[in-house]
Amino acid sequence: MHEFDLIAVIRDRCAVAREDVRLGIGDDAALLAMPAGHILAVSTDTLVAGVHFPKSTRAFDIGWKSLAVNLSDLAAMGATPAWATLALTLPDADAQWVGQFADGFAALAGEFKLALVGGDTTQGPLNITVTVHGFVPDGAALLRSGARAGDGVYVTGTLGDAAAGLRILAQGEGTPGNDRSTTSRAILIERLDRPTPRVAQGLALRGRASACIDISDGLVADLGHICAASGVAAEIDAESLPASSALFGLCDAPTRHALQLAGGDDYELCFTAADAEAPSLLGDLARGGCGATRVGRIVAGHGVNIRDAGGNPVAVKQPGWEHFR
Ligand code: ADP
Ligand code: MG
Repeated sequence: MHEFDLIAVIRDRCAVAREDVRLGIGDDAALLAMPAGHILAVSTDTLVAGVHFPKSTRAFDIGWKSLAVNLSDLAAMGATPAWATLALTLPDADAQWVGQFADGFAALAGEFKLALVGGDTTQGPLNITVTVHGFVPDGAALLRSGARAGDGVYVTGTLGDAAAGLRILAQGEGTPGNDRSTTSRAILIERLDRPTPRVAQGLALRGRASACIDISDGLVADLGHICAASGVAAEIDAESLPASSALFGLCDAPTRHALQLAGGDDYELCFTAADAEAPSLLGDLARGGCGATRVGRIVAGHGVNIRDAGGNPVAVKQPGWEHFR
């Protein structure tokens, strides 16, 4: 297989037709038309084998996740996904691997009618860089900087599943916890391998949330970014953190809280909203199929403080993933 055959495999499997793609894969650059009155939201994320996914991860799931983590960033801005580029570095020209990777990428791209419009294909250690482009009406993007004292803090979906899935893979059978259910384990590993970007939820938050971020590095770390950008502090009630029944059945409360607060890879949205906005917003999210839960509030000060049911401070041992530590 040559470079151009691999590109053809990717192009053929990721074919999504869009009128605004005047020229897609095949020339020196893509030519793309913007809708009037909109701003372009652009975001890039790289996935490195062994860092962002276990080396055993299936090609399909790597393709899915490489797009999902990028769509999650567009969701957090309240942007509608439109286009992507893909820079793929592969150890060898394995057409079967590339085909499965492209199928995973295409499964998610098709769901959001997102067109793959270009990229680059090179040889080296496995590394996937995706850049996504989305539209947001001028002035309507969700920022990290708008949280105000008195706002509630909310998260979509459930937290901690992906981090639990990673632990299960790393530690093998029998740990953590005492639930022998392989179904629960499979659900948690699936949440790690195939995160769901909360695109529709991000759109619903536009004009209603005061600040928003996607949770990639863990709630405390990412909410900390909202606090820093907004010049405020947050108080989190650990007991209120939403957990899936799979996670509930698998570990005790302190372990669960640690996974939910600092685990990372959730790709849920964390947002803040004024109390006046909350009821209709939460109702709309619930009707949309992915509800949100109030987990705390914004106060004056700086940093993120967590309390347990008894009102005692909860220490977070490892506040989120960071490279170059
Ligand atoms: P150039 O040499 O001009 O950089 P390439 O030979 O790298 O062009 O790529 C040829 C075409 O294929 C370009 O349109 C490029 O955007 C596209 N392409 C290359 N690799 C990928 C990829 N992994 N995914 C999508 N498009 C790709
Ligand atoms: Mg090139």
